[in-house]
Amino acid sequence: MCGGRRLNSSASLTEDSVFRLKTRPVTYRGRFAPSPTGPLHFGSLLAAFGSWLLARHADGEWIVRIEDIDRPREIPGAAEAQLATLHAFGLHPDGPVVRQSGRNGRYRAALDRLLGRDAAFACHCSRTDLAESHGIHHACIASAALRPQTAMRLRVPANSRVAFDDGLQGRIEQDVYAEVGDFVLRRADGCWAYQLAVVVDDAEQGITDVVRGADLLDSTPRQILLQRALGLPTPRYLHLPLVLDEDGRKLSKSSAARPLDDAAPQPALREAWRLLGQDPAMLRGANPPEALLRQARSHFDPSRLPRLGHFAAAHNGLPADAG
Ligand SMILES: [Zn+2]
Repeated sequence: MCGGRRLNSSASLTEDSVFRLKTRPVTYRGRFAPSPTGPLHFGSLLAAFGSWLLARHADGEWIVRIEDIDRPREIPGAAEAQLATLHAFGLHPDGPVVRQSGRNGRYRAALDRLLGRDAAFACHCSRTDLAESHGIHHACIASAALRPQTAMRLRVPANSRVAFDDGLQGRIEQDVYAEVGDFVLRRADGCWAYQLAVVVDDAEQGITDVVRGADLLDSTPRQILLQRALGLPTPRYLHLPLVLDEDGRKLSKSSAARPLDDAAPQPALREAWRLLGQDPAMLRGANPPEALLRQARSHFDPSRLPRLGHFAAAHNGLPADAG
């Protein structure tokens, strides 16, 4: 359940200090935003390293945000383990780590603004109610009296077509009304929906460039629609290819889904560098991770980034010069 307040670690930012972060103008601020549902794996490293490289290449800032709003899915200690892994890999954020669990007030304020303009509404519909429309919500079917738990949804009007130019995947378009419908901002269990939290945080933290895995590509039109509804700027987006299994599915139990080894960052960094389309020769002989990252930063070529996914099989054997 997501109703109550919870304590945050001392590494957390207060809402006011988050606000202060954005007062310094930058032309590029990227972020890596893991959910603490388990240890970071190789797929996470591609997103972390890719977003770090693009930020550094632009002489920009790179920050880390822990997206810990989905309490039922959270694994205790996972956030600390993820931060320790980033540290071991030499991926140090510019500024304190923000945790979404400490930012209920910001999400509440955004929801209230939408409710005040009738752009959001309370919904009692269950999954079963929406089965006939394949989960797409256009009008409430359920009676409030029958189900006390309430979700909050964004009202998505007809013709809500959203298009954007992804930095790697090209022109992306989605009819959010037809393909998604009214989407959830706060779940019936009280948890804030990912879409609302990420839009509020990206704007407040002054994120100019969102670089993340292509599994979030189809969330982007919803986020842009929500940015427009809240009067917030839309950042640039770049979706990196995913590591896939040999059948072309998102990795789950393959070698690439194994937790990263904090004691041996170099082989994984070199492999991530190669899968990001970069020349392995450029990192030859670079140790420890900080030296490797310095070299990576100076040789990174964004035009070499591949658009399509990689097979996990490519990760089974590390390059000969790994380590
Ligand atoms: Zn409804």
